Amino acid sequence: MTTPDVELVPPSLLTDAAARAQKHLDGVASRSVAPTDEALAGLAHFDGPLPAEGTSPADVLAELDAHGSPATMLSNGGRFFGFVNGGTLPAALAANWLATAWDQNAALSVMSPVAAKLDEVAVRWLVELFGFDAGVGGGLVTGATGANIAGLAAARHRLLADVGWDVDADGLFGAPPVTVIVGGEVHPSLQKSLGILGFGRRRVVSVPADDQGRMLAEHFPNKLDGPTIVCLQAGNVNSGASDPFAEIIPAAQQQGAWVHIDGAFGLWALTATARAHLVAGVEHADSWATDAHKWLNTPYDCGVVLTRHPDDLAAAMSMTASYLASDGGREPIDYTSEMSRRARGVEVWAALRQLGRAGVDELIEGCCRHATNLAEGLAAGGFDVLNDVVLNQVVVASGDTAAMAATVDRIQSGTECWAGPTTWQGRPALRLSVSSWATTDRDIERAVAAIVEARG
Ligand SMILES: *Cc1c(COP(=O)(O)O)cnc(C)c1O
Repeated sequence: MTTPDVELVPPSLLTDAAARAQKHLDGVASRSVAPTDEALAGLAHFDGPLPAEGTSPADVLAELDAHGSPATMLSNGGRFFGFVNGGTLPAALAANWLATAWDQNAALSVMSPVAAKLDEVAVRWLVELFGFDAGVGGGLVTGATGANIAGLAAARHRLLADVGWDVDADGLFGAPPVTVIVGGEVHPSLQKSLGILGFGRRRVVSVPADDQGRMLAEHFPNKLDGPTIVCLQAGNVNSGASDPFAEIIPAAQQQGAWVHIDGAFGLWALTATARAHLVAGVEHADSWATDAHKWLNTPYDCGVVLTRHPDDLAAAMSMTASYLASDGGREPIDYTSEMSRRARGVEVWAALRQLGRAGVDELIEGCCRHATNLAEGLAAGGFDVLNDVVLNQVVVASGDTAAMAATVDRIQSGTECWAGPTTWQGRPALRLSVSSWATTDRDIERAVAAIVEARG
């Protein structure tokens, strides 16, 4: 064996990192879900100025572990119910480490054959998993926000090309108007995407939603005029409810509209045999935004844009330069707004390889079952359950604004579990999302007991 001139990594550094990570994960069961006040105060350690001199990698790691690890939110455990933050599957976590050691730039196949291959396989497997038509393609992006931007950019390209306008070359100024239809309970990230793309956050037709946040099909415009993008939602971020796809999508498409789905987590209902009916018809849309880092439980940041018109996505996203050689095959760079990028396909591949189709079904169904048990336990403990618990989302309330705020405060400053506040149908509430493979029946029992005790 030849001795290398440069040691790429000190022999014990990665094993040290692994040991520290293992210790952190082993501590999840016994540590408080949110960091303690002492741990938060410890973050002041990082407030110092830029160091003049360097530090050994081992010391950098030790310092990070000492002051950073205690100040983490234990969202990878089974009793974190905030936002829609999934845990991380073991295979996805380990694959992420290995891929980081590979240090691959997943922009082009010539930069990383393995990253390009797994990017392609990950997208293909997701298309199969969701049961979409074989021609559906897309890319891996930073999250559902990035996926909404990408899907809507593809829509913008296609609809304006159809009326003779090259938006990618000539921009939106002077372009024929495009009507954008959203639901009354549209997610703010979709509104932000509309703003970024020049459609305007406010320049939309908003269709009223029902008490679960579903677009009311009877209020959907009967006649669509000119280029139109219809933005529907799979999985309201509070209630988990989905728009009536089977009623709206065919009618909109018959009139030439492009239907885009924001399905950050709700699209995953498709993968669970017993839940797929909740999103029936969603497979007929033109584009879909979803996340792997939410319900597939990959590490952040990992979103997915899929479309049945991949050429339109590529028209909006691709670029050419003489130094960016392609062998003519699929290039990850052609389907996302980024150029240099991490090899997200590795984690998606690893998660799907670990679970298989059956394991994904179990993950999604298990979270939904836990959500039902959580809602039943909280109802028995005196809370009003405000949503129809059909998926993984639970919204509960008890008492007036002040009482609800005090309850949320007691939950968040307790050690047992973590959930955040929301306002649902005008009522201050607690929202809980069960999105991690790691949640067990025992976790739900413990969370119910803690939340009921915290009720004001
Ligand atoms: C979480 C969420 C988003 C944004 O997803 P990110 O991955 O955080 O960008 C968009 N839409 C819905 C419905 C969501 O739940």
